[in-house]
Amino acid sequence: MTVSDAKPGVIIVGAGQAGGRTAQALRAHGFVGPITLIGDEALAPYERPPLSKDILLGQMQPQALSLLADSEWRELGVDLRLKTRVVHIDRAQKCIELSSTGVMAYDALVLATGARPRPFPGKIKNGARVHYLRTVDDALRLKPHLRLGGRLAVVGAGFIGLELAAGARMLGAGVDVIELGPRPLARLLPASFAGWFRRMHEDQGVRFHFGQGVLVIDGERVQLDDGRQITSDAIVVGIGALPNDDIAAQAGLAVGPGVLVDELCRTSDPCIYAVGDVATRTDHAGGAPMRLESWRNAEDQAQIAAAALCSSSLKPLDAPWFWTDQYGRNIQIAGLPDDGMAVIKIGQPDHGPYLNYFLQNGVLQGVIGVDCGREVRLARKIITEGQPVADVDLPRPRPKKTPSVAFPSALPLV
Ligand code: FAD
Repeated sequence: MTVSDAKPGVIIVGAGQAGGRTAQALRAHGFVGPITLIGDEALAPYERPPLSKDILLGQMQPQALSLLADSEWRELGVDLRLKTRVVHIDRAQKCIELSSTGVMAYDALVLATGARPRPFPGKIKNGARVHYLRTVDDALRLKPHLRLGGRLAVVGAGFIGLELAAGARMLGAGVDVIELGPRPLARLLPASFAGWFRRMHEDQGVRFHFGQGVLVIDGERVQLDDGRQITSDAIVVGIGALPNDDIAAQAGLAVGPGVLVDELCRTSDPCIYAVGDVATRTDHAGGAPMRLESWRNAEDQAQIAAAALCSSSLKPLDAPWFWTDQYGRNIQIAGLPDDGMAVIKIGQPDHGPYLNYFLQNGVLQGVIGVDCGREVRLARKIITEGQPVADVDLPRPRPKKTPSVAFPSALPLV
């Protein structure tokens, strides 16, 4: 469906990165009708990646995360309603119900409700305080615990757990990471590269406990499957995220998990779109439905949905892209690297720059680069084109004038 500029216009549920960018993109595509952006947090749309990096390290203030200044939302003519939750969608009447009592009609609805941390499934006893990291408030609560001489226990060795571990070590805290899987990032990266992450963290003094579940968090103690107990000042659970798809499911939209969308971010209802962490793409080349929790995906899907709503065309998007920063190293991943693909490794694993290319039948499918932003950018284009590529044509790192320090900068354990 496409929207007219007449009332009631477009309602966007979820005032995060994808929701905020959709509102901006609608205006950029020429939509002049009403746009209402509704979010349950107190803050206007902001970017989350620095929460586990610069904010925890004290290198950035929360105000710097905002997508736009308040005055810019007003200039765009976006009716921004914060601290407001959408509790129900009535598809027959084309309206939504707000937590603050009130019903609003829509021509088109965009679901940008994001995801929430997967809750700790075990027992929490004796007033134990478990931290999660999704919002500015979460980061500000956690920050004082990352300090010289402190101890942090991180449950889960995904990207957020590892970024937290890196931040804590750089500030001088001791860190234990407990992970059910056999290695870090087991669901996210090929095994061939996971070892690099493990070594980087172990070189900085992080203690990993692989193959260990946590059944009980008791006061300041984390109890592992094998009976060992780890005592810490703060316990953070980073075991993945669940899409906020409840209101979509209740409204009878196809959900599975995440709101199922096609290549234009259209859900099973022609008047409802979904973007960002909550959206599960069903059109993916590999065939399997896929939900991408990444900054780039939130940006891209906002553009796609806005263009579709305004019947504008959009140039094809590049392959998926993700980055993480740990111990001063910038790691970028493009495409979908996977175990079972041929791997070409170039560069210095310890000192960087370092590149791993993943190919299938001579076609580049993915790349992981350490301190190789330029090369990953070029490789991403090659992945998007999907043509066979000769080894010699793979981007190679330019020699650095000054070599990087091997895994710089954590403070010694005290
Ligand atoms: P969100 O930003 O979560 O926004 C959704 C909003 O909707 C939230 O404010 C939520 O409270 C609100 N909402 C939910 N339900 C309702 C409702 N019913 N009514 C009203 N409001 C509702 N990506 C990278 O590529 N690189 C990184 O280094 C990286 N680091 C990250 C670090 C952290 C700590 C986190 C949490 C994420 C990181 N990401 C990173 C992922 C990236 O930030 C997310 O993919 C992106 O924020 C998704 O945007 P979104 O708008 O879909 O969801």
